Amino acid sequence: MTTVGCIGGGQLGRMLGVAGIPLGLSFRFLDPSPEACAGRVGELVVGDYDDPAALDALARGADVVTYEFENVPVEAAVRVGAVPGPAALEQGQDRLREKELFRSLGIPTARFGSLEETGLPALVKSRRLGYDGKGQRLVEVPEPLGEDGLAEELVRFDRELSIVGVRGADGETRFWPVGENVHRDGILRVTRVPAADAPKREAEAICASLMDALGYVGVLAVELFDVGGRLLANEFAPRVHNTAHWTIEGAGTSQFENHLRAILGLPLGSTELRAPCAMVNLVGFVPPLVELLGLPAAHVHLYGKDEREGRKLGHVTLLDPGEETAETLVALASHENEERRGRGQAPRPRG
Ligand code: AMP
Repeated sequence: MTTVGCIGGGQLGRMLGVAGIPLGLSFRFLDPSPEACAGRVGELVVGDYDDPAALDALARGADVVTYEFENVPVEAAVRVGAVPGPAALEQGQDRLREKELFRSLGIPTARFGSLEETGLPALVKSRRLGYDGKGQRLVEVPEPLGEDGLAEELVRFDRELSIVGVRGADGETRFWPVGENVHRDGILRVTRVPAADAPKREAEAICASLMDALGYVGVLAVELFDVGGRLLANEFAPRVHNTAHWTIEGAGTSQFENHLRAILGLPLGSTELRAPCAMVNLVGFVPPLVELLGLPAAHVHLYGKDEREGRKLGHVTLLDPGEETAETLVALASHENEERRGRGQAPRPRG
């Protein structure tokens, strides 16, 4: 049996496992937590990501090893011969190198560097280990950035978009339709596809040039700002991505299956849209299943994680939703609803 190893045992690993089981694959995950939710769909090796013995236990007998988060230590990825290779990790783990890579490929970004270069107000982000808006602050008057600080022009974007693509072992690339994303508190809440009037070719060209430059194999996502129809790249993620969870039901082949196909050297599947989708994240709390499943054409994915503020616990994808259904789902998943429930009140009716 073909075995896939995965550094990280969170929901992305779990969904890789769910996608790979019908292909006859078996899975092994490495995660420091014995509670890691991917442990329900494969073997779980509990250990630190920089522990050579744990990495060897993950890789032993595995046909390929991949990863599900971008802060995997580069040495760990090298030790297990991970696919995608370490170049994407090296370039992506440092926001300055990431932005410089964009620049070297001619991909437009917000101005970045020092506060003199960006002007004020600016967002100052930590170069390392920042994600979901963590480690960023708004700066309105000049101040020292510190060694780890990178300033970025504050972009007044019209909307946030993402492009997610896959590159096969033979260099073939395919792209899912551009998604339109809404974040709150730096955390993705809603993705809709297809994004109306999205600059699709421009987005695909950005993703393709990154994948080609990195000699990439697997799924890669790029988060973009749309400013009057012009795209600025914010960041890339060398992995399956939250803004493409809708592909499980909404595309010919999901991002999870295509990532597996790519890293195993198998033919890529169709990335065509089956139906317009709205994907809503369940963050911090899970509304009652009976209410989620009561929505027409709702596909519910719960990750089996304990409730905790700001934690991604699941998502729901609506296929071809009417505006009313989409709004009902957004309201069900909203923080306000969580607070009302906490007070023992019924969810606020819409309208
Ligand atoms: P990041 O940590 O880079 O993923 O940023 C998280 C979120 O902060 C993004 O999805 C945007 O909503 C916002 N953001 C990040 N960078 C900028 C920027 N330069 N200008 C305006 N908003 C930004």
